[in-house]
Amino acid sequence: MSPTIFSVRALLLNSSYEPMRVVSWQKALVLWFQGKVEILEYHSVFARSVSSSFKLPSVLRLKSYVRTRNKTHIRFCRENVYIRDNYTCQYCGDRFTTKTLTLDHVVPVSREGKKDWGNVVSACRSCNQKKANKTPTEARMPLLKEPRMPNWLPLTDFEVGGQEVPLSWRQYLRSSQAY
Ligand SMILES: [Zn+2]
Repeated sequence: MSPTIFSVRALLLNSSYEPMRVVSWQKALVLWFQGKVEILEYHSVFARSVSSSFKLPSVLRLKSYVRTRNKTHIRFCRENVYIRDNYTCQYCGDRFTTKTLTLDHVVPVSREGKKDWGNVVSACRSCNQKKANKTPTEARMPLLKEPRMPNWLPLTDFEVGGQEVPLSWRQYLRSSQAY
C-alpha cells in the first residue's frame, strides 16, 4: 500500500446522518467488516492487497443509532473557537485569519468571566481593544450570536491532519451545522 493511504480517513455518521467523528481507514474497514456500517461514499484511492484491490470508504453510516451521552465533546481551544465562529469577528462581522484574530471574553476575566465555550468568542484586534473590560451591553457592541459549545465543528473551511476535507464529506457536514 502506498503511504498516502495511511492519511486517508473516513467520516463516521450516526444512523441519523449526524456526523460523529473522523476515523482512520483501518477503523473504517473494521466497522464495515463487522457489519456495523454502510458505506455511503468512497475515496478515489485504492488499497491493494496481494489478491485484490478495493476502494477506501470516505463516508460511513452506522446501521443502528448510537446515543451520544456527552453530545460529542468538542475540545475548547483557540483554534476551535475560531472554527466555530467561522473566522469571523463576533462584533464587527468581518472575517480574519488565525494570525489576526484574538479571543475575547464576553464577560471580562476581571469580572470572573469564564474561559469556556459560553463566554469566549473570536474578535479582531480592534474590536477587542474597543470592548476592553466591558460587557457587550456596556460597550454597545452586540454579539452576532450567542456563543455556545458547537455540536459539531464545520469542517468545510479547514484541514484535518494537514489534508483538506474531502469533497465527499461536505454535504454531510453542511447539513448538520447546528451552530
Ligand atoms: Zn471586529
